[in-house]
Amino acid sequence: MATRDRSLHPGDALVVVDVQNDFLPGGTLAVPNGDEVVTVLNRYLAAFARAGLPVFATRDWHPPDHCSFRARGGPWPPHCVQESEGARFAPGLALPPSTVIVSKDTLREQNTYSGFGGGDLDRRLGEQGVRRVFVGGLATDYCVFHTVKDALARGYQAVLLTDAIRAVNVAPDDGRKAEAEMIRLGATPLRHEMLAE
Ligand SMILES: [Zn+2]
Repeated sequence: MATRDRSLHPGDALVVVDVQNDFLPGGTLAVPNGDEVVTVLNRYLAAFARAGLPVFATRDWHPPDHCSFRARGGPWPPHCVQESEGARFAPGLALPPSTVIVSKDTLREQNTYSGFGGGDLDRRLGEQGVRRVFVGGLATDYCVFHTVKDALARGYQAVLLTDAIRAVNVAPDDGRKAEAEMIRLGATPLRHEMLAE
C-alpha cells in the first residue's frame, strides 16, 4: 500500500477528532467555522461505511477542574466537561453505531491534545489492524496537529483531510503552519474529491 494511494483498503481507518459542541459556533471554545467540517466528514464517513472500514472518534473529556481551564491558569475557557452537553458530538455528525470512541485528557493534570497521548487510540487502532489513519476534525492547530504528529511518530501512515479541518488561529497563521508541518512530517493531504472509491 503506497503512502499516496488514494483508495481505501483494509488497514485504513477514519479518525474524527473532537467534533464536539463546545468547539462549534455557540460553544464555549468555538473554532471559527468549525461546523463546516460536519458535512464533509459525513461524506468521508459514508465512504468508510461503503468500504466496511472502521471509524474512530476522539473527544476531549475533561474533569470540571481541568488544568487547561483559565481558573487553573490554563489558556482556555472551560470546555468539553465530562457528561456535559458541550462535550457531546455535533448532532449532525453521522457517526455509525460501531464508532470506537476514544476519550482523551480525562485527568485533571493531563493536557496532551492528542488521541495517542491522552487516550488509548493506539491500542484501539492496533486491535483492528489499522496501519493508515485518515484524520479530520477540530482543531487543525491543536488536537488534529498533535494526533497526526503522534500517529506518524508511532509508525502509522497519516492522511490529512484538508477539507475537513478548521483552526483556532490564536495567531492568524497557526492553522496554515500546523498543516504545513504535518505534511512536512509525512502526512499526505487529501480532499474528498481526490478520494478514489
Ligand atoms: Zn481541551
